[in-house]
Amino acid sequence: MKDIATPTRTKEILNKYGFSFKKSLGQNFLIDPNILKRITSEANLSKETGVIEIGPGIGALTEHLARTSGKVIAFEIDQRLLPILEDTLQPYNNIKIIHKDILKANVQSVIEEELKDYKELMVVANLPYYVTTPIILKLLSENLPIDGIVVMLQKEVADRISAKPGTKEYGSLSIAIQYYTEAEIAFIVPKTVFMPQPNVDSAIIHLTKREQPAVFVESEEFFFTVTRAAFAQRRKTILNNLTSQLPEGKSKKDMIIKALETAEIDPSRRGESLSLQQFATLANALYPSFA
Ligand code: SAM
Repeated sequence: MKDIATPTRTKEILNKYGFSFKKSLGQNFLIDPNILKRITSEANLSKETGVIEIGPGIGALTEHLARTSGKVIAFEIDQRLLPILEDTLQPYNNIKIIHKDILKANVQSVIEEELKDYKELMVVANLPYYVTTPIILKLLSENLPIDGIVVMLQKEVADRISAKPGTKEYGSLSIAIQYYTEAEIAFIVPKTVFMPQPNVDSAIIHLTKREQPAVFVESEEFFFTVTRAAFAQRRKTILNNLTSQLPEGKSKKDMIIKALETAEIDPSRRGESLSLQQFATLANALYPSFA
């Protein structure tokens, strides 16, 4: 069967429906079947895998997912794409399109209704670039029974997500994602495989969900508050960032100094030099003073 994701077929489909791209919805469609094969092979799918896709577009990735997995549930926000998807994905009987903003969707109940019979659950998508981080953080923080996430996003965001301590990309986003997953850049993707071509470089990131979060924290919410505070101004020391950013931090400076001492962290260090474990120890030491 002819792939949707070739320049000729994509143009045919767009012309047939008079479809015009909406930049505001991050619509950059894939037009290279080789990239799609690499994405599905990176996700290591089988007929025992249920897949959640975000933003099927005209179905380029969706059909590859349908061929290689058990069932695909795809969330699409743009109503104009629904009749097109009905047409392009008509040969497949294991796809369900849900017309919803993924950020507003109850993904947990969709999984219970549609995907509970599958041994493994993966999220695979070419994400809309204006909302990549909120989408990934939603999927991870809602404690969904997913095993992994393989998604296309801006290379710059992929670098921050997978960054290690001591690098300039390392920050609160690296910590938030690595708390839940092992994060790795699978491969870099050239602009030429998209229509229209995006302004930035892209990458496929592979997130493997951990059985347990990477570190023990008393409160996840407070742990993330501390990590965000620590990176508020990257050139400031950890002590200065925490006193200026934490609620009532200035009046609690003594407690912050004490907690840094308990966690054996020199107050003059910068957030970017601390490991996940050091942030967890610090957040747990601070927690009683801020709970
Ligand atoms: N999967 C297609 C492909 O690879 O060719 C399209 C990918 S395109 C980068 C992103 C898709 O996400 C578009 O179809 C867009 O309409 C959709 N989208 C944008 N924001 C969304 C949201 N909040 N929830 C669900 N879908 C969204």
